[in-house]
Amino acid sequence: MSELLWEIEKEGRIGVKLPKSDVPKYESKKLLPDNMVRKSEAKFPQLAEQQVVRHFVELSAKNYHLDKSIYPLGSCTMKYNPKINERLANLAGFTKIHPLTPDEYVQGALEIMSELGNGFCKIGGMDAITLQPAAGAHGEITGLMIMRRYHEAQGNPRKNVVIPDSSHGTNPASIVLSGWQPIEIKSGPDGKIDLKTLEKYLDKDLAALMVTNPNTLGIFESDIEKVADMLHSVGAQLYMDGANMNALLGIARPGDFGVDALHYNLHKTFSTPHGGGGPGSGPVAVKNHLEPFIPKPKIVFANGKYSLDWDIQQSLGKVQAFWGAFAVIVKAYAYILSLGADGIRKTSEDAVLNSNYLRAILEKYYDLPYKSTSMHEFVLSGEFLKKYGVKTLDIAKRLLDLGFHAPTIYFPLIVHEALMIEPTETEPLETLDAFADAMIRIRKEAEENPDILKSAPHDTAVRRLDDVAANRNPILTWWDVKS
Ligand SMILES: *Cc1c(COP(=O)(O)O)cnc(C)c1O
Repeated sequence: MSELLWEIEKEGRIGVKLPKSDVPKYESKKLLPDNMVRKSEAKFPQLAEQQVVRHFVELSAKNYHLDKSIYPLGSCTMKYNPKINERLANLAGFTKIHPLTPDEYVQGALEIMSELGNGFCKIGGMDAITLQPAAGAHGEITGLMIMRRYHEAQGNPRKNVVIPDSSHGTNPASIVLSGWQPIEIKSGPDGKIDLKTLEKYLDKDLAALMVTNPNTLGIFESDIEKVADMLHSVGAQLYMDGANMNALLGIARPGDFGVDALHYNLHKTFSTPHGGGGPGSGPVAVKNHLEPFIPKPKIVFANGKYSLDWDIQQSLGKVQAFWGAFAVIVKAYAYILSLGADGIRKTSEDAVLNSNYLRAILEKYYDLPYKSTSMHEFVLSGEFLKKYGVKTLDIAKRLLDLGFHAPTIYFPLIVHEALMIEPTETEPLETLDAFADAMIRIRKEAEENPDILKSAPHDTAVRRLDDVAANRNPILTWWDVKS
């Protein structure tokens, strides 16, 4: 184990020399209420810059991350995010603007947001957009609240929202928070929405159906147009969870197959790294009939100038402070411009190709419960390995020993002992082959030496953790460890 910074500090050692302050000194007591003023000086470890650099480089090398190798976490689209986009988002012209600056002085920022919004509308085949939501789940609830306003304006807010049993846990949560009742329907044997079951819920109480497409089994809902028609025939709406848009870019537009509202996950599809809880963004695009209800302000362009329009009567209001996650928006814009229309389409084509390549190899060694060509991801089952006493969790842990991050496991819930694999478009053939070899080796180990799986990982900085104990008795700070 490496030492903590607190353990290697030396009183008085310091890594930086700060310039003299050029602003007048204020007594914090005069500026802040009593209960917000520190009683004692803040404690920081005292170290040389080089010690800090070495410490964090060492930690980063212990951890697994995308700059090391493939991160095949299904449904998360852990692709390589070009570093140039971080650079661009870091330009002082972007990072130093104050969000309350009058519109006339931030024309460039407004133009970027407006152009990115137009680009997303084009990609999705939609008519209007809000860039405010902070993530996918926030996009879901924003989209559903827009739909609720729409139904209220029609005179009946309605009661139910249908979701397939393959849906992400955030979907039912968003439905409940929007004041509706989630109704889960069983997927058909082909892993798709079962139209016969859906038919039963088609009435004036049905507000919407929420669907991920391609769904979380990595299968395209090929009856989606029929589903949209069925919903629309009773005035219900079709919401699409766009977490899996990495499979559709430039190939299919949700607006063309009947979707009324969808969100994009910029931190999945459009070049913002995620996984450490950093800022994300979940813009929501809608069709014309929903536009009056989207969050305000709206960016408008008139007489050669961009401005923010706050005067939108039926708008939901604001769902996020200021402009949303502006740096994430800049990265997405840079990403789309650098790819161009051809590159956008190639992104999804390569993501689907990589996934099918891996599936075609691995379905010979693992069970593929929903037999289908895959879109950008596929779901295997490790259920058959239970006869050797091996669980999917053991496979995930063993992969760490072999130098790979595990796929998503135990999701979607309709596959027992699920392994959900999404290689993304940015992995080269050699990495896909190496990952496949590791999975095949693990399959053999399950039969010949299951103990090595059950006790994995062996070669990582930290061995298998007791996650139940960690949940029940979290130790979150150095002070707790020491006491
Ligand atoms: C990631 C994901 C979400 C939630 O998105 P966040 O940005 O993490 O809030 C919802 N649905 C699906 C299918 C997802 O993969």
